[in-house]
Amino acid sequence: MRSAALAWFRRDLRLRDNPAWADATSSAAAAAALVVVEPHLLAAAGPWRRQAYFAALGGLDQSLRETGAALWVAVGDPAEVVPRVAEHIGAESVVVNADVTRWSTARDRKVRHALAVPLVGHWGTVVHPPGTVLTASKTLSRVFAPFYRRWVHTALPLAACSGSAKILDPPKEFTIASTLQDRIPDIWTERQALDQVTGWLSRVTNYHDRRDHFAIAGTSQLSTALHFGLISPRYLAEVVDTENDGGASFVRQLAWRDWYTHLTAEHPDIDRVSLRPQFERIEWMSGPQAETRFCAWRDGLTGYPIVDCAMRELASTGWLHNRLRMIAASFLVKDLLVDWRWGERWFRRMLADGDLAQNSGNWQWVAGTGPDAAPYFRIFNAIVQSRRFDPQGHHLRRWLPELKGLNDRDIHAPWQATPLDLAAAGVTLDRDYPAPIVDHAEARKQTIAAYQQAISP
Ligand SMILES: Cc1cc2nc3c(=O)[nH]c(=O)nc-3n(C[C@H](O)[C@H](O)[C@H](O)COP(=O)(O)OP(=O)(O)OC[C@H]3O[C@@H](n4cnc5c(N)ncnc54)[C@H](O)[C@@H]3O)c2cc1C
Repeated sequence: MRSAALAWFRRDLRLRDNPAWADATSSAAAAAALVVVEPHLLAAAGPWRRQAYFAALGGLDQSLRETGAALWVAVGDPAEVVPRVAEHIGAESVVVNADVTRWSTARDRKVRHALAVPLVGHWGTVVHPPGTVLTASKTLSRVFAPFYRRWVHTALPLAACSGSAKILDPPKEFTIASTLQDRIPDIWTERQALDQVTGWLSRVTNYHDRRDHFAIAGTSQLSTALHFGLISPRYLAEVVDTENDGGASFVRQLAWRDWYTHLTAEHPDIDRVSLRPQFERIEWMSGPQAETRFCAWRDGLTGYPIVDCAMRELASTGWLHNRLRMIAASFLVKDLLVDWRWGERWFRRMLADGDLAQNSGNWQWVAGTGPDAAPYFRIFNAIVQSRRFDPQGHHLRRWLPELKGLNDRDIHAPWQATPLDLAAAGVTLDRDYPAPIVDHAEARKQTIAAYQQAISP
């Protein structure tokens, strides 16, 4: 048994079913829990992700306090801080749960180099680690369905149980109170996240039928807790009853999450490069026209209510239902012909669950540039989507109060309303609400032509 181990927490902000924490507390007589807040990562995160992160740090500190110790927190460069804390406590190893982004792998390389003791990696942020769900030829499937068939039949890893090491308290300069001062207005604990899971388990049976209807809370809303690791995805996959359609569909979504993580491990540039190289040749809209279109999209001013509603909800809450993410993303790429990377960056910044692997994987799916993506010629019609998934326009009225007087048919496409109906609703287009930025049928033709040109020999 080692004398001390340092557990360095990153996107695994929980004590239960955490392989790195289990290792630190069972392989050493004493253990400390450290978080290093990296200013450049904070700067890249928007307000909702920052808020969730700080709340989760407060929650981790509280969970540790229940064991009689507290979280060690430092702000700075991990390559400087981690070796210093490891030395301070006499750690014989530093343990982490690995991540797959290029920043995290570069950072870990730097820290490993700076450390005098081993940096030991585990996997606590996925159900099945990258490299463990492979085709017969030992490669990662570029099609989701076969990946999923293997994934679902791969035995779940065992739960990680914490050991009995003495937990070391931080000196004053490393306490959360002195390092983050008043940056933690709320606390978000893993206990609260687990309660959310319990609540969800009582509703998951309806998931299959309700998951696309964004006007009702038919999904788990666990993505932010999963992003920061307040709950273990492995645990979720274990406790959901997959005998019913709802549970089975839900667990399938966890497999998508794993698949995008595995793809990112293989293609760390997933946010920068189309995974189907021929689509690198698409001639996206450029110059001031691209900027005008992007700004209208970002600010919820496209004149397409379902898109504007999504973008305003995103800015105001930091969360969006999957269908709304798909509709808004598709509109930017396939109606406005703006490069998917612009949208990916905006979503990643604004989403509380903004995650390079999941966000880029999904953007590439929508844009048709990723493996197993939607075919490029399948283009969402935002109005059809809106009428289908929010027929009474409940969600639209919530986020676009200026349109709430329109009837249930016109609210999805105000420019199709008669002048009389517009007047009765008190709406003047281009004064109270924008006229549509593009004509969908025209835009569709232009986009298909741009994609076809990219793939033509
Ligand atoms: C353009 C676009 C961008 C996206 N960006 C992100 C992102 O940055 N971070 C993120 O976590 N998810 C992202 N998603 C995936 C998905 O929209 C969210 O995970 C989901 O909406 C979160 O809601 P939920 O927790 O209620 O999901 P549920 O429907 O309850 O699903 C359960 C869990 O499965 C996972 N999951 C569900 N759908 C997907 C999916 N399509 N891809 C990967 N994992 C999935 C999530 O972890 C989710 O919490 C994006 C989807 C699109 C279309």
